[in-house]
Amino acid sequence: MRRGVLLAWLAAAAAPLAAQDEALPYIDIDYAAERAAIGRYQDADQRLQDVGWQLARANAPYCSRIVPGIGLQLQDMASYGAAGIARRALGLKGNFAVQTAARGSPAALAGIFTRNREVARIETLDPNTLPAAERFEWQRLAKVHDHIEAMLTEHGGIAITFADGGAARVQPVEVCASRFELMGDGDKAVADGARVVIGIGFPAFAYPEEEVFAALVAHELAHNVLGHDAWLDEHGRSDRNVRRIEREADRLVPWLLANAGYDPSAGPRFMRRWGAKHDSGLRMRRNHEGWDERAEHMERELPLVQDLMAREGRADWSQHFRREITPER
Ligand SMILES: [Zn+2]
Repeated sequence: MRRGVLLAWLAAAAAPLAAQDEALPYIDIDYAAERAAIGRYQDADQRLQDVGWQLARANAPYCSRIVPGIGLQLQDMASYGAAGIARRALGLKGNFAVQTAARGSPAALAGIFTRNREVARIETLDPNTLPAAERFEWQRLAKVHDHIEAMLTEHGGIAITFADGGAARVQPVEVCASRFELMGDGDKAVADGARVVIGIGFPAFAYPEEEVFAALVAHELAHNVLGHDAWLDEHGRSDRNVRRIEREADRLVPWLLANAGYDPSAGPRFMRRWGAKHDSGLRMRRNHEGWDERAEHMERELPLVQDLMAREGRADWSQHFRREITPER
């Protein structure tokens, strides 16, 4: 799945006009409507980042790969088809602004990373000076996020300067090494080892209970923290192998949820609610078990998870979780 295509979709769903080609003959642009459309996309992204952060932060003690994080996501106007419309809709002079600060993260606790606040410099780097394609540019934002992570790793903190003259230095905390990205179109959820990518059309975005939505995010995060993508690269993506890693991801969901302060039984609740309506396509591919079996695999983990939480206050899956595969080192 190619990211450039994803972000083109993202832009298309986020902002009907800003997403279009710059050359379209627009005369009456409703900038308030553009801003509202971008805002709806940002609301969904905020929900994903809040939940993703909570899971990745709380499970860091058990993850084999951890990174320093501050929970800050930026946005780049060049990712839209019409950067000029997007800039004007959000009131920006340059291309970079705050997208989300994940709830409870150092960025959120700093209290200054408000949505759409324009960012002028990251340490000494003005991100606007990085080369970008004319439109639907997605690599530049990924580079900026890589730069933030590198600064945090090297310096144990990062200085951000806003276009309005404000500035702050933020210290990171450790999180499991996975990013969370919202796709502006589609209803898929995938994990590629480094990222969890969820389409804005995924049914769980409409579930009101956060913990049930979190179960979906936890399933995808499980693939990354259990090293599934690398294992499949090594052992092949046969139906049998995919079933094994899917089952293992399902079984880890209650553990990840419990550590993050969610009810671990939200795992099977998610599976029953989603599966009863939506899993026929997966079942036809024959590499996923039926949703009822998948919910049962999750349920069988509950007594162990609940017992550990009661006795130790944590569910250390690096010690107590029974693996279905032997991961690559
Ligand atoms: Zn999966």
